[in-house]
Amino acid sequence: MDADERRRVRTLPDVSKGLFSEEAPPAGPFLAVALERSIDGKTLTYAPPAESAEVANALVGRACMAPLGRGGKGGAPTRGVIIGVGGAELLEGFDPHKVRRLLAVSDAKLPDGVLELGRWISEYYACPLGMTLAAMLPAAVKKAVGRKTRTALKPSGAGTDAKLPPATKKALEGIRDIPADAWPLEERDLVSRLELKNASPLRRLVTLGLLEEVILTDVVARTEDATRLAVEPGPTPTPTAQQRAIIEGVSLDGFSTHLLFGVTGSGKTEVYLQLLERVLASGKSGIVLVPEIALTPQLSSRFVARFAPTLGERGVAVLHSGLSAGQRHRAWDAVSRGLARVVVGPRSALFAPLTNVGLIVVDEEHASDYKQDQAPRYHGRDAAIKRAQIEGCPVLLGSATPSLESWRNAQLGRSTLWRMPTRAPGSAGLPMVEVVDLAQERKVSRERGERMELLGPTLESALRDTLNAGGQAVMLLNRRGFARVVACPDAMCGWTLTCDSCSAAMVFHRKGVLSRKGLVRCHHCLAEQVTPKSCPACGKKTILLGRGTQRLEDELAERMGLDESEMARMDGDTMNRAADYQSVLSRIADGSIRVLLGTQMIAKGLDFPNIRLVGVVDADTALGIADWRCQERTFQLVSQVAGRAGRGDKPGRVTVQTLSPDLPSIQAAAIHDYERFAADELEVRKAAHLPPFTRAAWIVARDRQYSRAEARAFEIAGLLTEAFRDNARIEGPAPAPLERTHDEYRVGLEVYAANAAILRDGLLKIRARHGLVSDASVAIDVDPVSIW
Ligand SMILES: [Zn+2]
Ligand SMILES: [Zn+2]
Repeated sequence: MDADERRRVRTLPDVSKGLFSEEAPPAGPFLAVALERSIDGKTLTYAPPAESAEVANALVGRACMAPLGRGGKGGAPTRGVIIGVGGAELLEGFDPHKVRRLLAVSDAKLPDGVLELGRWISEYYACPLGMTLAAMLPAAVKKAVGRKTRTALKPSGAGTDAKLPPATKKALEGIRDIPADAWPLEERDLVSRLELKNASPLRRLVTLGLLEEVILTDVVARTEDATRLAVEPGPTPTPTAQQRAIIEGVSLDGFSTHLLFGVTGSGKTEVYLQLLERVLASGKSGIVLVPEIALTPQLSSRFVARFAPTLGERGVAVLHSGLSAGQRHRAWDAVSRGLARVVVGPRSALFAPLTNVGLIVVDEEHASDYKQDQAPRYHGRDAAIKRAQIEGCPVLLGSATPSLESWRNAQLGRSTLWRMPTRAPGSAGLPMVEVVDLAQERKVSRERGERMELLGPTLESALRDTLNAGGQAVMLLNRRGFARVVACPDAMCGWTLTCDSCSAAMVFHRKGVLSRKGLVRCHHCLAEQVTPKSCPACGKKTILLGRGTQRLEDELAERMGLDESEMARMDGDTMNRAADYQSVLSRIADGSIRVLLGTQMIAKGLDFPNIRLVGVVDADTALGIADWRCQERTFQLVSQVAGRAGRGDKPGRVTVQTLSPDLPSIQAAAIHDYERFAADELEVRKAAHLPPFTRAAWIVARDRQYSRAEARAFEIAGLLTEAFRDNARIEGPAPAPLERTHDEYRVGLEVYAANAAILRDGLLKIRARHGLVSDASVAIDVDPVSIW
């Protein structure tokens, strides 16, 4: 048992007092509790449970169960987090006789740094504190899944040893020979260690107060995380010159921000690993954030292989969505006890209860999945910077296509810019990118007397060459399903199938390759129905328009003669579990998959040397969205997926099909010129007063009746105008891009303020006076990654 485990040992409560016996009114200490369901800005005051009153100071940050409202003596048990301890000042004149005791206090504790981060998130992202803190604790931890307790013994250091029977006296002498750091011990271990016939001498020592009983807790998971691959640790590679500059150059003393701008395949992960080695050597710990989908066993095994030999099997906590509740709690527990000192995971890993944090890394910092899409709508990258500031440590953001926010911060000197312009040795260098005009491709097909579906002649022949040469290929099409629209062929009729609950077309999904059987599904509310065979308005036979990944799969089977087992489709329909993803990755690695096709999921993290061709089937998918980030998104998507090609020693090739070959974002991606793209796009943003030159908030009012949603949006617009005066530009109210979903109409407002402080202060003013926060009828999204 180590020091941290011993710290968790606590004495048994004295049950003779009872929790609800007649007692004197509590004179304090009192606890400020943020309940999960509390109103914005309000904390409630409770007394600690009787058995933990004397350790009230140690309760701050602990999850708890509090009585709320009427309902008998106790009130309804409600979850919360203890955020402060104090005396009568917490009562604000409230009768101390009426202060209720907490029902229970959990072992789960948010360290001070995480609690402070929670306060900042609540304030900046306009979400009540109780709800924010609730989101920072995994459900498995709150429910204590897998928590086991056992009773053990330790010497009390008190009691009298006079007149003991011989057997008991002998046992006590044996106990005094046991070194202090061996305690506490379970009864049966002590019996065998002292070579006793039975436990009765020990029981007598407990009765006499010479031994005391303590409760030990542990968290057990029924199975191990299967994605943790057993990898033989190899020697630490010698860093290249460009890697070494960063590994040695980042100061580990105090808060600082760093942007690592490194092309795909330049070896950023090795930089993270060796920086972490420095951090661990100094006795501190580290957090590495990655987008969920990039959290492959391939990546996490590198961290486990590098650090488990020194830190132990539980020394690296890998958090991902595939963990069972028991595994998640066990990992959290290992971090909480200080057993795990490296945490790798998606955005929520930022809330890991690590203490003594020495480095935070945000890999693929541009990824939009760092933004949480429900309250609290925090941005994992920005929250990481905040936590680093709280912890007083460096934060390193890494990307081949930095977000314009991070790029501008580097230009302004708010962060240190590090460059890795070349790929790691052993790779063939950046792939050659060819942009082909879809209109031209269609013309060529027509002249040949062929009908072009998704693959134009250029991409098709590139694919044929790659496969014939034994290479593998990746095909990106950012649209799921088979056909986007079920429609009437008669343009005069104009009927298309839309969801009953949403203002969106239903997408046709077919069963099995080359099958025309299937059903239609709404991608927003997931409603499904049988595909109508004929138009309900005029009776003509319906047609399928707009092609998705399933159609591409069929086309590859038909035109390239690929067997179903030689292709894998990776999209939101096929990748339901972490195991699905892993199985595809291992089949790419062993070469049985020749073509991987899918949505933007395939653009991140894949690192396979034999992928020699990347085809972007339609680069224009991100451009249709009415959003000022669409150029940035297109550039990132094309660059990132192109980066999957040619990572081995054979040169890679990328073919991009587009209707807009002259678009700056596509042109710049084709020549791997991020800086040119960033410079052009920043000019556009600056002229339009858009982020990163301003800070934005997107506010949506929702209601089953359009008029009520609209009225609420106008009311909010009035509050915004009053609170910001001339300090912000307010656009709307106007129907949201997705005007109706889940049977609710949505009316939105965009707010643009000169900086983060102005935006936060204005929203805080409205919250304090009018209670405007994210709830069932309003969503507030500060620094949105899209207008949704
Ligand atoms: Zn729907
Ligand atoms: Zn019709």
